[in-house]
Amino acid sequence: MNCERCGKESIIRLTYGPHSLCQEHFEYHFEHRVRGFTRTHRLFDDTDTIAVAVSGGKDSVVALNLVRKIMPRNTIVGISIDEGIDGYRNLAITEAVKNYEQLGIEYKIVKLKEEIGSTMQEIVQKTHENKWKENSCTFCGVFRRKYLNAAAREMGADKLVTGHNLDDETQSLCMNFFNDRMEKFARMGPKVETRKLKEWVPRVKPLYNSPEEEVELFAQVKGYPHYSDACCPFSHGADRNIYRRMMDEMEMKKPGTRFSIIRSYLKMKPLLEGIGEEGNLQLCHRCGDLSSQSTCQACVYEERIRAAPTAPGMTPLQINAMGKKDTMKGLPILNGNGR
Ligand code: SF4
Ligand code: ZN
Repeated sequence: MNCERCGKESIIRLTYGPHSLCQEHFEYHFEHRVRGFTRTHRLFDDTDTIAVAVSGGKDSVVALNLVRKIMPRNTIVGISIDEGIDGYRNLAITEAVKNYEQLGIEYKIVKLKEEIGSTMQEIVQKTHENKWKENSCTFCGVFRRKYLNAAAREMGADKLVTGHNLDDETQSLCMNFFNDRMEKFARMGPKVETRKLKEWVPRVKPLYNSPEEEVELFAQVKGYPHYSDACCPFSHGADRNIYRRMMDEMEMKKPGTRFSIIRSYLKMKPLLEGIGEEGNLQLCHRCGDLSSQSTCQACVYEERIRAAPTAPGMTPLQINAMGKKDTMKGLPILNGNGR
């Protein structure tokens, strides 16, 4: 198949067009779409200090490099959360650091062990031993959200960029809608902010309308260092996998479905004003983070985790295997929401 723009050999066929593009025209297509989206949705101001959350995977690495390119005059800083997952996050953070250093960007690595006294591996072990009902991604997501916001504030950021792509967003929209989580559903979108509390650093998603497979190819052809080996050992039981499968099947049968979903959502968004959590938002009385209750979920979890002892003697590999067994729930192994 040849590129529809120049006739050279194509490297990708975008089924929703359909468009066949060579490397040069694919790069242009991808970058042009991100630039256009960023501008249309006014994700950044010229004076913003921009923090980028970088896990080291393809999405966050592409977001970091493109934001640096699109906003050349803004101050940009990087934040990586090290959950403490041996053989996974440590490798991904090595890739994140290569990008920070190549771009000459100041960065901060937040270690969960230093913040709450346990790594995610220890939390998985405690979950197993105490028969807690939460799965690992629930803890991980709550802590990541808190410490990203805290680090962004500490670094003086006006915006916090995350690498969520089109697939992540459509999966999350379906998850929240199908599970009757309307407050969360209403607070989604390419720019998540609150008018009420300045403590919340607005989150922006420049890859909001970039399909996952294109983000992966873009990272590869640009040669950005990124982690793409085995997925997180604790991702197997994530509910997201159900929605990922469903969306992949829809997209295969009806190319363009993912774009239609976010277009519908963006049209509906103004009608959702008032449904979001905004009304209940307050500051946690223990840590000062944003919360919908007087004590935030992260503080509730932290207290429980600190109180539970860890049985010594298990190796990280044994814990990883245990986490996998605990969270399998008979689901096929697919990538989790590993950022
Ligand atoms: Fe955390 Fe992601 Fe692993 Fe879940 S899949 S435990 S959210 S790193
Ligand atoms: Zn708190």
